[in-house]
Amino acid sequence: MKNNDEFISILIEECKKQDIDISLEKAEKLAIYKDLLLEWNEKINLTAITDEYEIIVKHFVDCLECTKALKEEREIVDIGTGAGFPGMVLAIYYPEKNFTLIDALNKRILFLDDIICKLQLNNVKLIHGRAEEVIRINNLYEAYDACVSRAVAQLPVLLEYTSPYIKVNGKCIIMKGDSIEDEIKLSQNALKVLNLKINKKYYYSYTINNEKYSRTILDVVKNNKTPSKYPRNYGKIKKAPL
Ligand code: SAM
Repeated sequence: MKNNDEFISILIEECKKQDIDISLEKAEKLAIYKDLLLEWNEKINLTAITDEYEIIVKHFVDCLECTKALKEEREIVDIGTGAGFPGMVLAIYYPEKNFTLIDALNKRILFLDDIICKLQLNNVKLIHGRAEEVIRINNLYEAYDACVSRAVAQLPVLLEYTSPYIKVNGKCIIMKGDSIEDEIKLSQNALKVLNLKINKKYYYSYTINNEKYSRTILDVVKNNKTPSKYPRNYGKIKKAPL
């Protein structure tokens, strides 16, 4: 792309295609985020996607699809946020909501801290550590209205990482690809044990260079408290997923 004006107008246009309304001010912040993402990506591994158009569609607009599932929730946690997807993008979109972004890799947390400073965001908190550990260390059990997560683990494992963070009646918004039905079948026990129910599925797709990408967002509701033994430690989760 020639410059950030072009980046911003294509971003707004791509959002419109997916029925997502975004202001010029927020799109400008995402353009700065993109510049920093590409700059830091030269030093540390943040993303394999470096084409600016693909960053718009596969990262920014993709993350903004969560706005279709998020409503009144105010306190939101992103598990395995990586370079801030979807949590940082959503924090830019929703300055009135508070976000906690958790990741096991400290280098990514340092990058996210730079974004917070450069964009002067006051609604984002960062935590370095494994989700199944920091929940107890930082006293975050059932502390959030919603949890978001993209590309972190298979659904039964991910539900054990994420659902203990949300309050009863809160929701997990899980971003997945198109072959979700097999993962859902594999997750029946996890859903039962963790008192969860799949409330809704959102389907969307986009096309880049004649290739179609189909995606699903699962809206999973927590009906009752999480039994206190969950989440188990990493060794147990890995050895015997729910
Ligand atoms: N969500 C981002 C995205 O969609 O681009 C990053 C996805 S990346 C494939 C997976 C991220 O999850 C990595 O940054 C990794 O460090 C983090 N991760 C994996 N397991 C985790 C855990 N148990 N707790 C915290 N972070 C975890």
